[in-house]
Amino acid sequence: MPKVVAKPEVCIGCHLCEIWCAVAHSRTRDILKAFKYEKKKPVPRIVVDENLPECFAIQCRHCDEPNCVFACISGALYKDTETGKVLHDESKCVGCLSCVMACPYGSIVIDFEEKKIVKCDLCEGLEFPTCVKMCPNNALVYISGGEE
Ligand code: SF4
Ligand code: SF4
Repeated sequence: MPKVVAKPEVCIGCHLCEIWCAVAHSRTRDILKAFKYEKKKPVPRIVVDENLPECFAIQCRHCDEPNCVFACISGALYKDTETGKVLHDESKCVGCLSCVMACPYGSIVIDFEEKKIVKCDLCEGLEFPTCVKMCPNNALVYISGGEE
């Protein structure tokens, strides 16, 4: 299954992955416009747990048997059988947060403004996950599937 793997041994806790994830999921995909002018503030789907010198970037593992999908009461979360990604249909989400409680990795993010959740989609529509591309320290690695 495709996923992003974190390397805590080289993560410096700069939080740039969070910033660029938010930009990638913004309306304009422009860092200045996204943060300063977009009405709906962009929400990152990766969260860096920081307790220096230990830092760990947490994001969806796109599990083969995803607890969040099993827990979702509305069918908003689903496993894409072609790509292996666990995806979220925002239009079906009722914000019950069952998925947040079910995820063993704590990787599902609450969007308090929308009263729904957001989660890593490995940058659907882009060539490569933005967090991996923009990490200055190669602390994130993209595994496209097959290799583990
Ligand atoms: S951008 Fe890279 S080094 Fe910086 S916090 Fe994120 S994972 Fe760590
Ligand atoms: S918050 Fe949305 S995605 Fe999560 S379980 Fe509830 S309906 Fe499903």
